[in-house]
Amino acid sequence: MRLLIQNGMIVTATDTFSADLLIEDGKIIQVERSSISSEEADEVIDAKGFPVFPGGIDPHVHMHLPTAAGYSSDDFYSGSLAALMGGTTTLIDFVTPYKGQPLLDALNERKKEAENSLTDYSFHVSPIEWRNSIPEEIKELKEKEGITSFKVYLAYKDTIGLNDEDLKKVMKAVADAGGMVTAHCELGDEIDALRKSFIQERKTLPEFHPLSRPSNLEAEAVKKAIEFASEAGCRFYVVHVSAKDSIKYIKEARQKGQTVFGETCPHYLLLNDSKYQGDFEKTAPFVLSPPLRKEEDEKALWAALAEENLQTVGTDHCPFMMKQKRVGVDNFTKIANGAGGVEHRLTLLYSYGVLQNKISMNQFVNMVSTAPAKIFGLYPRKGEIAVGSDAELVIWNPDKQKTISVKNHFMHCDQDIFEGFLTQGCPEYVVIHGQVAIRKGKRTGIPLKGTFLKRN
Ligand SMILES: [Zn+2]
Repeated sequence: MRLLIQNGMIVTATDTFSADLLIEDGKIIQVERSSISSEEADEVIDAKGFPVFPGGIDPHVHMHLPTAAGYSSDDFYSGSLAALMGGTTTLIDFVTPYKGQPLLDALNERKKEAENSLTDYSFHVSPIEWRNSIPEEIKELKEKEGITSFKVYLAYKDTIGLNDEDLKKVMKAVADAGGMVTAHCELGDEIDALRKSFIQERKTLPEFHPLSRPSNLEAEAVKKAIEFASEAGCRFYVVHVSAKDSIKYIKEARQKGQTVFGETCPHYLLLNDSKYQGDFEKTAPFVLSPPLRKEEDEKALWAALAEENLQTVGTDHCPFMMKQKRVGVDNFTKIANGAGGVEHRLTLLYSYGVLQNKISMNQFVNMVSTAPAKIFGLYPRKGEIAVGSDAELVIWNPDKQKTISVKNHFMHCDQDIFEGFLTQGCPEYVVIHGQVAIRKGKRTGIPLKGTFLKRN
């Protein structure tokens, strides 16, 4: 079965040109600047000059994440469907073992949970503690399972966070295996102390969530972790950068030639801490970590994306139902922490980035697809439009306007932190595994099954 996409305006991270694309067996087999005859194909799509770019890769999602308030409300099926509806065709989720569990066992359990994903997927694996076998376990995951990235937490010390000595050892082990460390950078001890004192003072509302996690504790953690990564000779990636001051340290390290990358999320670009003012029901949906910052941080993050001091935009997709948020109605530290976003990443960045001239169309493609592919070892299989790449493509309708709402989103969640946001631009078609999964903005009936991706 051959699919032909005619009259597309191909947009890659570096290039924009008119071309026809021919697809067979899930791969792009021809990219032709002059037209390809429709007789070559079984199915033809007229892209009408719309932008055509590689399917989105969201490098930061948490489907079916176990927490004290129950699982995050999207499983791999509903979460990957929401991703697909928004133009994202690959997900990188996480493996968090329990104490004492071998990393490979934890990965194998997680693979089973992801079997119902419609899109392809991989995982960042978290060494949550040190033991002597960790270097060997990391090496095995890298070589046999194609796991190239290992996530550490400087926060959450009482559960999954690492102390400084163990952090250094893990970084050395990952460096020796040729992998990359990704890190949640917030200073855990200082945050724990602040949280405790607010609760003791009966300051229990969501408005105290951001006050318990100030931006300087993120920036200091970024600074420290970059230093540790430099000592270990480890490639390093800071997840969900939210604070202006964190960017400075990433930029400085990159200027010195250290391999450091930074990711931010749509909610840090488009929302701020004014969302924590008000009653519990209105403010609890915005409890996520790091918290929403100030307007000046939003501006700095946009500038950092434009200047390419930050390289990727992930969503940290981790939705919860209101009843899970309400677990913390008397204590903000117990509110299920996270929000959904996987569905909206492309349209928000296009509407509020590209159309407002904050970033170029090529930069947009880079940050949602090509850069994550390159950084996480999926390139050029994913994140590119070229002969031999996976036929995972978005044909983008640049004109269509919508309003984001819980009433029409596909995420399995009873609120939406972007409720009421006007957007312009959405997927007209999404091609995944060489098949048309979305046509004229609607899901087609074709059966889809994602697979686990080995990265390199
Ligand atoms: Zn996360």
